[in-house]
Amino acid sequence: MRLAVLKERRAAETRVAATPETVKKLLGLGLEKVAVETGAGLASGIPDAAYREAGAEIAPDAAAALAGAGIVFKVRAPTEEELALIPRGALLVGILGADEAAARAYAERGIDAAAMELLPRITRAQSMDVLSSQANLAGYRAVIEAAAAYDKAFPMMMTAAGTIPAANVFVMGAGVAGLQAIATARRLGGRVSATDVRPAAKEEIRSLGAAFVGYEDEESRAAQTAGGYARPMSAEFLRKQAEVVAGHIAKQDIVVTTALVQGRTAPRLVSAEMVAAMRPGSVIVDIAAEAGGNVALTKPGEMVVTENGVKILGYANWPGRIPAAASALYARNLLTFLATFWDKEARAPRLPEEDEIVRGVLLTRGGRVVHPQFAPAKA
Ligand code: NAD
Repeated sequence: MRLAVLKERRAAETRVAATPETVKKLLGLGLEKVAVETGAGLASGIPDAAYREAGAEIAPDAAAALAGAGIVFKVRAPTEEELALIPRGALLVGILGADEAAARAYAERGIDAAAMELLPRITRAQSMDVLSSQANLAGYRAVIEAAAAYDKAFPMMMTAAGTIPAANVFVMGAGVAGLQAIATARRLGGRVSATDVRPAAKEEIRSLGAAFVGYEDEESRAAQTAGGYARPMSAEFLRKQAEVVAGHIAKQDIVVTTALVQGRTAPRLVSAEMVAAMRPGSVIVDIAAEAGGNVALTKPGEMVVTENGVKILGYANWPGRIPAAASALYARNLLTFLATFWDKEARAPRLPEEDEIVRGVLLTRGGRVVHPQFAPAKA
């Protein structure tokens, strides 16, 4: 069986779905060939030669890479042109951001599509959890870029010429990205506080040495779903939460927002008035920008400087801003997924229908949409 790795064509996508390290291991599984499209790794600092050395074949274009492929590894969903080139019956694995129309298109093309962003957050799936591996790096990178955009220092600096105070850093949303942002800001010497709605997050914030600032009530005590995600909070809760954090935000030098609610637009946590009350030179990083943004003034994909001199970084694809590390972890996630469901004798993947992970990620199988979230409603 052959596996294809394409060069990502979507805007701002710098990652790649396999590295020389994972190519070697993929071949070790018993794959006949791993074809990597030329230039696929360049934005992550991986030249064709490194893939070749690892045993991959370098294909001159997407069509050549995909010819005869039984498995296709991608970071993002294939473009229409790429989709048309994927052989029928192939297994496509990536962050597919799928909706019903896309699932139908995969089914019509006879492609078995695994959307890795739908992976259940269970212990057994941790090593293939692309959301966690990428969010972790996004949280780190957000703080590094905030520090670079901030015109003062993070740590308190006592010098002969006087003292520079530590930066106040507030992290909103303490999931995987937020917890890493807290840890990174602490390592840099910031004075860190954080908020979340899930009760479990409060303890995690404190265990990292940050202060918890937030509003709690009956609603927040039930804010975590069985899958571990936050529920969408009521307008009334969000208003009370805003009242509690508004005064705190006004005293912050850095605000990092990471709050997401599965399948919805990101909750609006920072209003234009809150930004207006911040000091000039403060920096806001909105990691949720692509999902609609946690901050009212965020412009997705851009940095804006407000009238009162606050910088708001709303870049898209935060893990893509640390591409070599993001690709390394992402590639390992996909390798682990394939290795977990690899049939050694058949030298092919076998995805048992009853497996919880397979049920979570598989959109289509044998020309049918099988995922309950996207399957057409039964008449
Ligand atoms: P996420 O990206 O969906 O959301 C980020 C954070 O925003 C979450 O902590 C969420 O509670 C918070 N949030 C949502 N609405 C908010 C609001 N109005 N105000 C403040 N914060 C708000 O979350 P994630 O990082 O993907 O983590 C989701 C859950 O999955 C967590 O419970 C995490 O511990 C868990 N998890 C489990 C595993 C595993 O066991 N395999 C792996 C990774 C994550």
